[in-house]
Amino acid sequence: MIDRQQITIVTDSSLLDHDTGGGEHPEVPRRLEVIMEQLNAGPLSSGIQRTHPDPATRKQLTAFHTEAWLFRFEEAVLSGKTYIDHTDNQIGYSSFETAMLSAGTGITGINLLENSEAADVFCLTRPPGHHAEPNMPFGFCFFNNCVIAARHWQSLGRQRICVFDFDAHHGNGIQTAFEKEADSLYISIHEHPSFSYPGTGWAEEHGQGEGAGTIVNLPVNPGTSDDQVLGLLDGPVLDSLEQFEPEAIVVAAGFDGHIADDMSGLAYSTGVYREFAQRIKAWEQRFCPGRLLSILEGGYELTALAESVEAYLDGLSG
Ligand SMILES: [Zn+2]
Repeated sequence: MIDRQQITIVTDSSLLDHDTGGGEHPEVPRRLEVIMEQLNAGPLSSGIQRTHPDPATRKQLTAFHTEAWLFRFEEAVLSGKTYIDHTDNQIGYSSFETAMLSAGTGITGINLLENSEAADVFCLTRPPGHHAEPNMPFGFCFFNNCVIAARHWQSLGRQRICVFDFDAHHGNGIQTAFEKEADSLYISIHEHPSFSYPGTGWAEEHGQGEGAGTIVNLPVNPGTSDDQVLGLLDGPVLDSLEQFEPEAIVVAAGFDGHIADDMSGLAYSTGVYREFAQRIKAWEQRFCPGRLLSILEGGYELTALAESVEAYLDGLSG
């Protein structure tokens, strides 16, 4: 019998309240429900503990976002607008509060880790975050959950934070946050910007000034398979971690690179997410034991999403 590690899932039914319009929009509340149903029905259910997040405070949000964006977002919601800037960014009456709660999942998870009240934390949350910029929403994202988590960790004295992003899309907002500073590392594997949203994340974007070398973009072509992507984790990703020696790792865990998910042309299987998690867990044990936090980003084909998250958590729990 393998001794499995307990997984703590930070989530809340209020995260379903962000209403994206009920039409063709792929970022639907049902995403979170199918994942919980899959986990509750499967072999991991007995090893999962659920915890509710506290919303991020304005001070925690403005560690990355501008006050002007917070006001503009809140005002748009209160005035009954149905989207901000682009129809990708659909909103309803609860979207501002839901986005604050979503940004709070990572903070709550970090506090649990730092107090030794959790071993492995997965934030099952929406709206997602990695496209959100300091002063604007972008690509279904309003507050940058991973950056806000990283800033919180840094406020607790863990300066050297790595965000590893395996979502099929480049996390332009995370790059914006980190590209001029030496203490943070952003590693992203994503579909090549020539073919994919949002068109950033070229290999030549390395970071600027003091941040030179702390942005590692690994764009991959449409059709990229499990073996090809795992080669990147075992090669350039591990090399970057060895050089940087992180004090904590935040994973931007997006599952839209799955072959069944038409939000990208990548061709990952469900099982690759177990392999990702096993490697990420090994990195945590080597570089920063007890300081690994995963936050849900994309993943839109509901069956593939639920099964892929289960595979990922299975890999994390060993
Ligand atoms: Zn994505």
